Amino acid sequence: MGLNTVQCKQIDEILQANGYSDYQWIDPQKIIVAQWVRMKCMFGCGEYGRGGACPPNTPSVAECERFFKEYADALILHFAGRMNQPEDRHAWSAKINAGLVKLERAVFLAGYPRAFQLFMDSCCFCKTCTGNRETCEQPRMARPAPEAMAVDVYATVRQFGFEINVRTDYDQEMDRYAFLMVH
Ligand code: SF4
Repeated sequence: MGLNTVQCKQIDEILQANGYSDYQWIDPQKIIVAQWVRMKCMFGCGEYGRGGACPPNTPSVAECERFFKEYADALILHFAGRMNQPEDRHAWSAKINAGLVKLERAVFLAGYPRAFQLFMDSCCFCKTCTGNRETCEQPRMARPAPEAMAVDVYATVRQFGFEINVRTDYDQEMDRYAFLMVH
């Protein structure tokens, strides 16, 4: 069963208290999981096998599908950023992802034990990622990005009216999306 209006309001207040206003409640059953997303991780992404919260250190596509089916309420949070140089993205993502871990904790402590955060980018907490879960330097903090959970982020967020387009150069504004699985 999903959250009631009072519970949603309580979580809205947590988000506002933590400085988040650009987000939407969504029905997690509309999150689109696709095998092609995992193929893009496996072939073409430099982080495959090098990210402690990236494939192959995330569940299989079938398990990801099962995970999303267990939720009735979730949030999509939008972050827009324009980098002066490509290297700046790491620090930008690390700062936002650190805030998102705190948000997940605040929602958890408010009485929502299923709260689970999917980052707006790969983890980015360490300068060099150890590349696996066993040696992760901040195992309590690291979370996967939606893409690492095989989510077709483009098709999913567009259903809710969010803007997302392929960028052809690093200095164009990026639209990144985090998902907070609530209940
Ligand atoms: S916390 Fe560090 S080691 Fe762990 S997944 Fe993130 S970047 Fe990699």
